[in-house]
Amino acid sequence: MDKKLKNLIFVLNCGSSSIKFAILNPNNEKKYLSGVVECLFLSETYITWQFLGIKYKKKIGSNINHQEAVNFIIDQVLPQEKDIFKNLIGIGHRVVHGGTKIKKTTLIDNNIIQYIEDAVSFAPLHNPANLIGIKIMIEKYPSLAKKNVAVFDTSFYQDMPETSFLYAIPYNFYKEHGIRRYGAHGTSHNYVAHKTSIILNKKFSSLNIITCHLGNGASVSAICNGICVDTSMGLTPLEGLVMGTRSGDLDPSIIFFMNKQLNLNIDEIEMILNKKSGLLGLSGISSDFRYFEKNYNHKKHAKRSVDIFCHRLSKYISAYMSLMENRLDALIFTGGIGENVPLIRELTLSRLSLLGFNIDHELNLYTIRGKSGLISKSTSRSVFVIATDEELAIAQETSNIISRK
Ligand code: ADP
Repeated sequence: MDKKLKNLIFVLNCGSSSIKFAILNPNNEKKYLSGVVECLFLSETYITWQFLGIKYKKKIGSNINHQEAVNFIIDQVLPQEKDIFKNLIGIGHRVVHGGTKIKKTTLIDNNIIQYIEDAVSFAPLHNPANLIGIKIMIEKYPSLAKKNVAVFDTSFYQDMPETSFLYAIPYNFYKEHGIRRYGAHGTSHNYVAHKTSIILNKKFSSLNIITCHLGNGASVSAICNGICVDTSMGLTPLEGLVMGTRSGDLDPSIIFFMNKQLNLNIDEIEMILNKKSGLLGLSGISSDFRYFEKNYNHKKHAKRSVDIFCHRLSKYISAYMSLMENRLDALIFTGGIGENVPLIRELTLSRLSLLGFNIDHELNLYTIRGKSGLISKSTSRSVFVIATDEELAIAQETSNIISRK
């Protein structure tokens, strides 16, 4: 065991359909443990993790929920790492929505838990899952109870101008009820933006980039002079791109139509738009991009779904070019799909040649898979794949907050 083991952070990222976790040193970025529980609520929920370089995979069961999955991690995975666990100084939680009251990373106390609960209507798939993780960790590890830190996806968007965050509905809905664009995935967009500034050797405060985080949830952010000036997710993480099971943008009248003409109630419509739409809804088969990558050339529904995904994405990228004050330093792809699916990058960039994007097919297809690097031709605007590491970003923020106390 590493004798210099100290100041480790446990990170818990309870997503809507998966849970990622890690134990790492935020200073030297060494990861001792990292893992993910996938396919929550599906017929086969399984966990994979890597501890000191050795990989493990287990089936947890069927239709497993967040609570059962977090308990499995605590009971079956963490006890193997007793030495490491003794050296934990804090627990960092990803929280999707800070609502109207929380603007930045903070230590968790009862007030903060209440604020996260108050913001559940802004992130109905995520904040409840985040709260489950927070409450279990506080209960199971009382010696670290006061060292739980919440890192919010919405923090990155606090400086957006009101031209971006206001909706064109009566102003008092914003003033009185907090209805505005909040954004999500901020931790990832912020992380890859900082990585880009290092790669380009450019000060963060003068960086002009567009970042595409494409995972089960997907969003695009426009960052101008180091400040996020617009993003595709809205009041909730439902707006914007086509996602695994979320519709993204649609005409709000579709909701009235579903309600009035089809007699679906509001809860049913909310469930359809969040859990039955997106790639799953379009294909009727899957929300997993591995399926679409495999079947793009063989199955009509797979091609249709992917083409719609890329059409929407390229529209956002084009629109955000107009926010760049005459200079774009780079376009960035990240997230499970952005990092691993060359097809998506190819199809999206092929729609953007008018704007000066030209992909290098070799780099895109062969060199970069699963890694970070440039994928554009030398004559093109720069396009990079940059692997995100939300767990590392959360650990670093958690450590900063704890060491400030
Ligand atoms: P989230 O964090 O939102 O749960 P991820 O960033 O983990 O999502 O991305 C999940 C998506 O990425 C899924 O659609 C999955 O199929 C896709 N994905 C992950 N790895 C690969 C891969 N190696 N090849 C193709 N698709 C992948």
